[in-house]
Amino acid sequence: MSECKIIDGKAYAQLIHTRIAKNVAELKDKKHIIPGLAVILVGSNPASQVYVSNKATKTREAKMNSFEFILPEDISEDKLLEKIYELNQDSNIHGILVQLPLPKHINENKIINAITPEKDVDGFTTINVGKLAIGQQDAMIPCTPKGCIMLLKSVLHNLEGLNAVVIGRSNIVGKPMAQLLLKENCTVTITHSKSKNIEHIVKNADIVVAAVGIPNFVKGSWLKKGATIIDVGINRVIDNDNKSKLVGDVDFASAKEIAGFITPVPGGVGPMTIACLLENTLIAATNVKN
Ligand code: NAD
Repeated sequence: MSECKIIDGKAYAQLIHTRIAKNVAELKDKKHIIPGLAVILVGSNPASQVYVSNKATKTREAKMNSFEFILPEDISEDKLLEKIYELNQDSNIHGILVQLPLPKHINENKIINAITPEKDVDGFTTINVGKLAIGQQDAMIPCTPKGCIMLLKSVLHNLEGLNAVVIGRSNIVGKPMAQLLLKENCTVTITHSKSKNIEHIVKNADIVVAAVGIPNFVKGSWLKKGATIIDVGINRVIDNDNKSKLVGDVDFASAKEIAGFITPVPGGVGPMTIACLLENTLIAATNVKN
């Protein structure tokens, strides 16, 4: 019986970082452009602060310019829009990311859509979502699903004709993930909080992408033998020794007994998200017309 292989997202992301650093150096040499990523954080959510600081560190390591804007929790929507319009005009900035969630008094959709689509490195503007949906090549692809597809292709190579089940339908992960799998010619099923019999649906899947936000939601007994499992979930739980740890949306211990390939948490999808963010910033900078 063949053993389950762990998909090492950390190692794969490192390969991407190395390639990006090389391409950044070439872009600087040939076009005198240094890719610049602006990250806006509103308020002081501790988890968001960690994400923003990680993004800034990785951006600098790739020799790109990192611009961080920490804005007060009570900033008005108009002031935040003004900041985005200013960054849209700034030729040193090629990518703009607004860390979500935003405070309740701010309309997230309005803020995201204020970002010029060419600088929308998260791929969340309506223009980029639409481009992805109709298969337009120049769509900016959301980072987490983009990373998931890369990991899938790194082990399966050709996804054509495979049954893929996505659990979760968020705009950030589930929906774009389904679009990307469709683009790879998979037969795609999306399940969500109102779906019935998910366990039964998952049993037919060659590929399962779990983006639910519920610790250990998917059990090994649900899976088809040899299936490839991509676990997007990041959930903090308290273990038996009263220590805090991160787990995914898939019960790793039981799933790895049945799966052919599986991503761990941490060290699977997470590192790919930042790598893809830098790649999108590089693409945006490369696309700048002289
Ligand atoms: P979300 O809360 O926006 O969406 C969760 C989705 O799960 C919803 O569409 C909902 O319908 C579905 N769902 C909820 N309960 C369900 C149930 N009982 N059965 C089936 N479906 C159910 O979350 P999100 O932003 O898509 O994130 C999902 C998970 O992925 C979270 O754990 C999040 O932390 C993680 N995440 C990780 C990365 C990364 O870089 N690895 C990036 C984004 C999100």
